[in-house]
Amino acid sequence: MREGLTVAEAESVVLEATGILGAETVSAWNAAGRVLAEAIEATRPHPPADCSAMDGYAVRRADLLGASETQPRTLPVVYEVAAGGQASRPLGAGESARIFTGAPLPPGADAVVMQEETRAEGGQVAFLVEPEPRENVRDAGEDFQAGDRLIESRTVLGSAHLGVLASLGRSIVAVHQRPTVAILSGGDELVEPDRLTDDGHIASSNSYTLAAQCREVGARPIYLGIAEDDPAAIEARLRAGLRADVIVSSAGVSVGDHDHVRGVLEKLGCRLLFWGVKMKPGYPLAFGVIEATGTLVFGLPGNPVSTAVTFEQFVRPALRKLMGHRLLHRPVVKARLARPMKKGRGRLHFVRVSLEREGDALVATPTANQSSGVLTSLIRGQGLAIFPAEAESFAAGSEVDVQIIDAGFFDRPDRGF
Ligand code: AMP
Ligand code: MG
Repeated sequence: MREGLTVAEAESVVLEATGILGAETVSAWNAAGRVLAEAIEATRPHPPADCSAMDGYAVRRADLLGASETQPRTLPVVYEVAAGGQASRPLGAGESARIFTGAPLPPGADAVVMQEETRAEGGQVAFLVEPEPRENVRDAGEDFQAGDRLIESRTVLGSAHLGVLASLGRSIVAVHQRPTVAILSGGDELVEPDRLTDDGHIASSNSYTLAAQCREVGARPIYLGIAEDDPAAIEARLRAGLRADVIVSSAGVSVGDHDHVRGVLEKLGCRLLFWGVKMKPGYPLAFGVIEATGTLVFGLPGNPVSTAVTFEQFVRPALRKLMGHRLLHRPVVKARLARPMKKGRGRLHFVRVSLEREGDALVATPTANQSSGVLTSLIRGQGLAIFPAEAESFAAGSEVDVQIIDAGFFDRPDRGF
């Protein structure tokens, strides 16, 4: 087992050990955000036939050459075609047909004149314009032709993809499975939030944070509860999680006398790939794979900020890879540091920052308390400023990379145009 890896090394080990889950078929109705596990080709053209883009009259253009407001041409209306209907016969020379948006163009017609450019006169219609060839006609296959490759495999399905699938007649689609994530909390000081009293225990907040982080990615959290600081108790609960795709345990992975998680993991057949990552917050982090089942195991540090930040850096990309995503990482933006920063060498620091826009620039202000126990600092910050391991000081105004962890960060209060 390797010890004391850089963040980049640790992340590479995690992603190398992480596969892509297989496919399942789901209703397209519920498939938004899922990752496509098949390539989509059009099996039919859309629209299926030439059709009208307007309410108006289907005509043969040759009948209306030279028509204008002052010299209208008048034609009889010989039948009507509504959306979903069919022309009863081809349109003959010197005839027009009433037509509505989405209705198929009658054979013989080659343009549609919109109703606003006509004047009804009894059973006849006066045309006030000469239409362009195929004016107001949507060509068959204008959107796609049979055989067109429309959506690549591994695409994240958005609303428009699902609309296109529906227009192909596809209501069921193959997507990558969503991983199950068994979440374990550990520590004699912990109780469930609804059992919190004044006797000095603290609520297990990590289970809630982690479950929400899993759901935000699209994974399926399963709760294993709180294990006491006792190897047998930890083992019993971890065993229940062995069938999950991923186990995320928080706390008990450090070097204290009451930290039993690593030992228990090894007993359960977990091959530990590394322990300890040169980062702050979050040094004590273990990662391994249960040999028998392939379950990925993350032993995250217990301090609430360390838990959340290490989930962001290691568990989230792994979950996204399992789900078939090609883009595994959060967006990173450049920002100007609001005040100077100092740090020790050797560890990469993820500093919680709030971000303000100043004109076109972003200004990053570190939240007041960077203790890894202060979870409220994560409420106040929208990003994590990244201070490289070997750097020591940063002047006010210097440019830093900020990982955006607030998914709503790019939303705006105004419409922006
Ligand atoms: P440990 O890794 O067990 O040394 O825990 C580090 C710190 O995180 C301790 O102060 C714990 O009380 C706290 N902690 C551990 N697990 C949780 C949890 N599930 N929720 C909130 N705080 C926790
Ligand atoms: Mg503990």
